[in-house]
Amino acid sequence: METFFTAQALTRAIEAIVAAGGSEPAEARLVADNLVTANLLGHDSHGVGMIPRYIDAVLEGGLLPNQHPKATLDTGTLLALDGCKGYGQSIGREAMQMAIERAKHSGCCIMTLGNSHHLGRIGHWAEMAVAEGLVSIHFVNVISHARVAPHGGRDARFGTNPCCIGVPLPGEPPFLLDYATSAVAQGKLRVAHNKGEKVPPGRLIDPEGNPTTDPRYAVVPPFGAMLAFGEHKGYGMAIASELLGGALTGGGTWHYEESSKQRVLNGMFTIVLDPRQLGTAAAFEREARLFLDWLRKSRPAPGFDRVRIAGEPEREMRERRSRDGIPVDEATWNEIVTAADKLELARSRVEALARGE
Ligand code: NAD
Repeated sequence: METFFTAQALTRAIEAIVAAGGSEPAEARLVADNLVTANLLGHDSHGVGMIPRYIDAVLEGGLLPNQHPKATLDTGTLLALDGCKGYGQSIGREAMQMAIERAKHSGCCIMTLGNSHHLGRIGHWAEMAVAEGLVSIHFVNVISHARVAPHGGRDARFGTNPCCIGVPLPGEPPFLLDYATSAVAQGKLRVAHNKGEKVPPGRLIDPEGNPTTDPRYAVVPPFGAMLAFGEHKGYGMAIASELLGGALTGGGTWHYEESSKQRVLNGMFTIVLDPRQLGTAAAFEREARLFLDWLRKSRPAPGFDRVRIAGEPEREMRERRSRDGIPVDEATWNEIVTAADKLELARSRVEALARGE
């Protein structure tokens, strides 16, 4: 069963839980806004369902409220930051503000961010840069649990390592490509498991390495493994994310048998570029326009109404969910109010806020 919440009321409820975990009001608001935005865009895997995990991480000491990124190098075009295990929603925002400011001044900024807690939807960070007319490219690793098997391997060795590319476009909303390099995001398997649904073939293997459609193998022990998208191609991107997001940022790579810790650390390698300063702005605008017009003239394949570019499905979902509300399944909601219990925040208070009272 699902309950529908308005974005505003759900934000208030989540904000109250994060604040009860020790965050200043501004941070609690940022975390709640970020998670609810992921739900609004249709990425429930990175929405309010993350809260129980965050609260467990706070209680364990693996996620530290009220942190700010610390610069270990800042030459203007090179910026190295330590995320100090702080909430990715505020660390990521401050880190991107710094990179954007430097890219506007110098034409580009390569920013490494290690040791941040979960950065959520990586597209959120590219959106900050494209809103300023900048290109934004991200490679991210995940220090949490090994969940994805290498191409040719049968056991999990690394995380869902997302990549994201945001490009501002003339006369229309940006191209926003943002996905996990696993065939499906870990959180989507959690959502499928909570809803009692199967996942399509080609996403998962069981603990013996056999193909399976049961999401439990990604959510509860005994664990199997997820597969990378596109066989050796997605696998290669996942390794690039580990090398750039994990090793080069100094945040660390995944090379452990297992971890019982609840914290999810991300390392993010980012390139922010000002296309206006390359001297090709006129050609960029003309050629991007010509290509997109050409692309959209493709005849729709069976089952499709039209060709879309990355970013469009999320904007369509935002429109729908802003109108109809955000669905949260019963298991996820129970986990959220249980997180409030752990902080001695009355669940009746959380439920009243979520109803808009
Ligand atoms: P996904 O498989 O839903 O793919 C989303 C991308 O594909 C978007 O860019 C979307 O616009 C594009 N897309 C979808 N349908 C399309 C169509 N018909 N035509 C053109 N483009 C289309 O994404 P995912 O792998 O499930 O990842 C979901 C989110 O999880 C992402 O925001 C990612 O950053 C996030 N994530 C975060 C972490 C972390 O540790 N912080 C780890 C993994 C994933």
